[in-house]
Amino acid sequence: MATQRKYLVREFNAFITCYICKGYLIKPTTVTECLHTFCKSCIVQHFEDTNDCPKCGIQVHETNPLEMLRLDNTLEEIIFKLVPGLKEMEKRQEEEFWKKNKPQENGEDNEGPKAKKAKIDEEEDQEDQDYHRSDPQIAICLDCLRNNGQSGDNTVKGLMKKFIRCSTRVTVGTIKKFLSLKLKLPSTCELDVLCNGEIMGKDHTMEFIYMTRWRLRAENSYPMVLQYRPRIDFG
Ligand SMILES: [Zn+2]
Ligand SMILES: [Zn+2]
Repeated sequence: MATQRKYLVREFNAFITCYICKGYLIKPTTVTECLHTFCKSCIVQHFEDTNDCPKCGIQVHETNPLEMLRLDNTLEEIIFKLVPGLKEMEKRQEEEFWKKNKPQENGEDNEGPKAKKAKIDEEEDQEDQDYHRSDPQIAICLDCLRNNGQSGDNTVKGLMKKFIRCSTRVTVGTIKKFLSLKLKLPSTCELDVLCNGEIMGKDHTMEFIYMTRWRLRAENSYPMVLQYRPRIDFG
């Protein structure tokens, strides 16, 4: 009879741990250029500062390395099978995260007329259309896209709280107004709002973008991430 070899989880560690945080891969996400895999949050955060793969150093993409990420669902399932309790723990952490980061209740400036206006769909559209309140809601992460290559005056900063919850019928135009108010941008500063690296038109609703852009990508999970940056005028 052949000796049955018992494998220890430890022996698989090289394949199921993240090079960046050294923990088990959470939402394992692969860089399609070099096939190196990291936790989704680890690699997304890494790409805020550089376009290179943390493990092998190749340039993943010239401008938007996030385009080269794919979620590895199979590997995620394998890790969940190998590491008992991990799935439950992740779920708990996600719930706690949402408890801590209650969208919309923005503690930093709850007073003042400006702050009130900035509350999407509660104040702005209240008079004419009250239906927004009963609309399906969507959580969105608003991420400031930093221009890595360009030096100098990047006037747009990140939000204090980048998670918001709003009606699925809110348009990109309203999101832009919200950002201008929150970030106290001068009226001359135009913003572009992007999803998956693509600039979104101002009349697109959150639902439309979620269905036609965000959901189509396997690596994308909830909440939807929209990026913004000052519009770059050429000429
Ligand atoms: Zn990690
Ligand atoms: Zn790599």
